Amino acid sequence: MTENMPDNLRILIIEDNENNMELISFILENNGFSMIKAETGKKGFEFACTLKPDAILLDIQLPDIPGTDVLSHLKASHLTRTIPVIAVTSYAMAGDKHKLLSAGCDGYIEKPIDPMRFVNQIKKVLGV
Ligand code: MN
Repeated sequence: MTENMPDNLRILIIEDNENNMELISFILENNGFSMIKAETGKKGFEFACTLKPDAILLDIQLPDIPGTDVLSHLKASHLTRTIPVIAVTSYAMAGDKHKLLSAGCDGYIEKPIDPMRFVNQIKKVLGV
């Protein structure tokens, strides 16, 4: 189980839904990840610039800025453009997965989150 422990990777979670935030944090913490939490797109982008996480989990439905815009900001800034971004969303219409991936997102996880698969989905994108 632990042979591929992430080396204390820091993941920025941008997620406004408390239950999802709790579930994601619980899973990541139990798998040896460190976390930074942001419940709005604005805060998430600021944390990405200042704290330089190893990866970003990005909810697409956010209260202030659409997650797609957060993704654009992240990929446009020299401070954040190399940080892998994994979109986490259940609201995608057909074709949104492709749209997100072509907008520079590095991976895509659909809600509801499957606790059994979640960490492997993340590790696969990060190559760890
Ligand atoms: Mn949301």
